[in-house]
Amino acid sequence: MLKISYKSFLLTLSILMSTTLPFSGYSLDRQEEILSEIESSRGNPSRLKELLPIVHCCFDQTQYEKILMTQLRDVKTSTKEFRELSRKIGEVLIGKVVECLPTQEIEINTPVAPFTGLQLQGSVELVSVMRSGDILLDTFLEHFPDAHVSKFLIQRDEETALPQFIYMKASPTLTADKPVIITEPMVATGGTLEMVITLLKEKGVKENNIIIACVCAAPEGLLYLSERFPDVQVVMTALDEKLNHKKYIVPGLGDFGDRFFGTPH
Ligand code: URA
Repeated sequence: MLKISYKSFLLTLSILMSTTLPFSGYSLDRQEEILSEIESSRGNPSRLKELLPIVHCCFDQTQYEKILMTQLRDVKTSTKEFRELSRKIGEVLIGKVVECLPTQEIEINTPVAPFTGLQLQGSVELVSVMRSGDILLDTFLEHFPDAHVSKFLIQRDEETALPQFIYMKASPTLTADKPVIITEPMVATGGTLEMVITLLKEKGVKENNIIIACVCAAPEGLLYLSERFPDVQVVMTALDEKLNHKKYIVPGLGDFGDRFFGTPH
């Protein structure tokens, strides 16, 4: 019988996925058509929802989100300010993620009267896509202090923008029935997330239990993920315009990790 080690399986998977170019599912014409429809549907949240069904938050930004995103995007924002803003935007994302989680009613007493309130049902798993996923992870851990954390290091090749699998430490508590929150601030091509979701599914995680928490997403990446994983849920604070030729999000905010960690690009 052919024996294949887990490491070589992952390597093969990584190579196979690295050679899969984004948008292999739709014909090029159809992608262009959908992307241009997304662009012309800005300001029409119900149409955007039809075009990007995996997105599970409102397409209308609140004023607070607009203000935070403006400061995050601004090239003049210092590293110190960027770090503080990342924490604030992480808090906003927590609110959106919680909208996707199962809850149950709970009877409590206020100092004045009995009250029927709400609590989360069960625990969640956190998955961070290093390095920038770790930035949101800190904020998520404040809100889910008991969550187990799995880490994936998948690096984007700067020349080809294709994801390369480097490392993973998956918690054995990742199971089919638990919600899994992936922290990944920038959804650009969707290639890195494709790799992470595929590996999670290999571990038995159900697609409909996966929630991706991101700050900025390009329509191209959302479309790519919608096509491959129609049951995942994505929450975000900004739907940006497009990808540039280097697969950076436009207008975007540059490299999230570099700006947070202060590493020059
Ligand atoms: N990752 C980033 O940090 N920024 C982008 O624009 C795309 C991917």
